[in-house]
Amino acid sequence: MPSDEARVNQLLDQLLESHPPATTSARQFLGAQFDLGLAWVHFDEGFGGLGLNPKLQRVITDRVREAGGPFCAARNPIGYGMCGPTVHVWGSDDQKHRYLRPLFTCEDIWCQLFSEPGSGSDFAGLSSRGVRDGDEWVVNGQKVWTTLAHVSRWGLLVVRTDPEAVKHAGLTAFVVDMQAPTVEVRPLRQMTGEAEFNEVYFTDTRIPDSEMLGNPGDGWRVSLTTLMNERTSIGGNIPAKGSGTIADLMKVWNELPDDRKDATTRDRVTKLWTRAEVHRLTNIRASQNRRMGDPGPEGSIGKMESANLNKAIYEEMIDLMGADGMLYGSYEMVRPEMAMGSDTLQKAFLRSRANSIEGGTTEVMQNILGERVLGLPGDVRVDRDVPWSQVPRN
Ligand SMILES: Cc1cc2nc3c(=O)[nH]c(=O)nc-3n(C[C@H](O)[C@H](O)[C@H](O)COP(=O)(O)OP(=O)(O)OC[C@H]3O[C@@H](n4cnc5c(N)ncnc54)[C@H](O)[C@@H]3O)c2cc1C
Repeated sequence: MPSDEARVNQLLDQLLESHPPATTSARQFLGAQFDLGLAWVHFDEGFGGLGLNPKLQRVITDRVREAGGPFCAARNPIGYGMCGPTVHVWGSDDQKHRYLRPLFTCEDIWCQLFSEPGSGSDFAGLSSRGVRDGDEWVVNGQKVWTTLAHVSRWGLLVVRTDPEAVKHAGLTAFVVDMQAPTVEVRPLRQMTGEAEFNEVYFTDTRIPDSEMLGNPGDGWRVSLTTLMNERTSIGGNIPAKGSGTIADLMKVWNELPDDRKDATTRDRVTKLWTRAEVHRLTNIRASQNRRMGDPGPEGSIGKMESANLNKAIYEEMIDLMGADGMLYGSYEMVRPEMAMGSDTLQKAFLRSRANSIEGGTTEVMQNILGERVLGLPGDVRVDRDVPWSQVPRN
């Protein structure tokens, strides 16, 4: 009986032999990868997985990358990292059959519709409404900061379906058709000049009952699955030693003239390199400890450190670049096909400023660390036992 890793490697041999990346389209390659259970290796068989430990995904990612194969998470980051795992846990078999394969092949891009103008960190307080009408739900409301909504086929939506319940209990999650005429997507421009995220307006949008994830009132638990996976997918990366963000800083350092490589600068760069390595090793440990598919608080801690570290690395890098750090191609608004693009170092610096906000702010991650890991007293919560309709709001 081969070990799980040997089994994964055998399937990878089969994939790379039958679908050589150099002569196979990305869609065909990813489709074959899904069919062999190598899309999300911890998912159930038949749904893109093999029911194995999620740490084996690393073996797959590394070998596919080395062979020059495509990577679903680059094109469909919200779909691969968050929506797929949520549909796998909460979707009906019919939804899993319909959604997971085209998500993985990137035929269908997905977005996550959680944040609202009045509810970001306190996302459970959201006000978009869903009202049942026969075997459909009618949705009205506004979402904001919705990454890639402008290219999305499907969205993972959470709305309030019971305003008389306490805030966490009155939410329900759905898959929504982003191309319905009642869904309006408007660009929001970032400091990089790009509009990778959007405002999304729902006006009497009808969603069939069969597109619910879980049951009415399960929306909070569904979103916890999404958010825990989001944090791991943002902060839990395990690049090879010395690669990833820190490689950008090392490149700038290596190209500095000798008279600028003074001891103080060397000290700052070395400290950042060491922090990056500690973060990498911590993520390896967290991924080894992780129970099947449940990232736990380690995901939040990894997300917090990766945001702080990325910002510090790019700040140092832009300082070392001197006046070159101010050179920027254009601030013309672009609506990119891909999110988190950082084709120049200057753009990577500007984009890194969002790291401590997206996917949950650093302050909120610190609360999770304090409460769930260190056992410190909880944040002040005055609305926990009050029906949502009676909570004062603007
Ligand atoms: C680049 C980017 C992409 C994004 N993509 C998406 C997406 O695809 N889908 C989506 O739904 N959302 C998305 N978001 C939204 C993101 O999740 C929210 O911005 C984030 O959760 C913070 O919410 P907020 O902006 O409403 O800030 P607020 O919650 O209003 O927070 C404002 C400030 O108060 C602090 N704060 C709030 N509560 C506490 C507390 N209890 N203790 C201590 N400090 C606190 C925060 O840390 C922050 O500094 C994206 C954001 C960015 C920047």
